[in-house]
Amino acid sequence: MTEELHEEYQVCYKHPDRKTLLRCNKCDRPICPECAVRTPTGYRCKDCIKSQQKVFDTAESKDYFIGGAIAAVLGFAGTFVMRLVPFLPVFVAALIFAAAFGKIICAAVRAAVSRRRSVMLTRVVVIAAALGALVGFGQEIIVNFNIISMGMAYMGLMPIIADILYIVVQSVTILSDMNGMVFRR
Ligand SMILES: [Zn+2]
Ligand SMILES: [Zn+2]
Repeated sequence: MTEELHEEYQVCYKHPDRKTLLRCNKCDRPICPECAVRTPTGYRCKDCIKSQQKVFDTAESKDYFIGGAIAAVLGFAGTFVMRLVPFLPVFVAALIFAAAFGKIICAAVRAAVSRRRSVMLTRVVVIAAALGALVGFGQEIIVNFNIISMGMAYMGLMPIIADILYIVVQSVTILSDMNGMVFRR
């Protein structure tokens, strides 16, 4: 019994020193647990996962510049527009405007790059939008750090937390919106 099982062992195609019983269910190559990626249909090797992903990666190099620029400008614009509505509590404003501009950024980028897509483009857009918002909040953050350093921690901390919340909500909105686009079949 043990002998029989032993003969079925193969070595991982990436790690010849590792014996394994696992196989990729697409290319059938033996894979060690470290190389195996769990998918809804079973274990696959990383190469098969990658080539599967490439089918969905249609973005061209210019799309990264266009997408990044749009995301940075709109990321900045969101923080600017948010300040035009001063009657909302900062946290409520951060939530509403971050989600709204996250959606606007995705729609604008998608239109500008003719709906081409890639995982990397999503990352570029998230980072550029966050940087744009960070520039928008820059002065506010500096002012509030001064307020904190003057001993009014609570007063200075709240707007900074609201700014961070804004950037987090914007990033999550973009990620869920654009990832849905990347992985949808
Ligand atoms: Zn494979
Ligand atoms: Zn391996």
